[in-house]
Amino acid sequence: MYDKNNVFYKILQSEIPAKKVFENDVAIAFYDINPMCKIHVLVVSKGLYRNFEEFVRLSSAEETKKFFETVSQVAEEVLGLGKSGYRILTNTGHDAGQEVEHFHVHILGGERL
Ligand code: AMP
Repeated sequence: MYDKNNVFYKILQSEIPAKKVFENDVAIAFYDINPMCKIHVLVVSKGLYRNFEEFVRLSSAEETKKFFETVSQVAEEVLGLGKSGYRILTNTGHDAGQEVEHFHVHILGGERL
């Protein structure tokens, strides 16, 4: 079961601040508080899914498409389209080291990874 007691839910509710770069009806994007590289942005689903597996299984085709279009759009905005590239990743579950149980995608770039 999705547990609302997580930091991304609180950011979605504006209960705690975030350095926001983009927002639409399916997602919010903000800078990671502990960046792993020069530019590290998180795209967080507005839908309440615990992880990638749950998102794919439970979200509509429209929501799935729009979410990943948003990831692409945010990457373009923070890094510049067609420049040096970037990496996206999503941790799912214990073995991946998922810290926050609310579906999100990391965008990593701004330097050679
Ligand atoms: P994951 O392991 O994929 O669950 O990663 C969670 C990410 O959220 C980590 O990279 C954290 O640095 C990041 N994070 C945790 N709390 C915050 C916060 N308040 N604002 C921005 N990023 C955060």
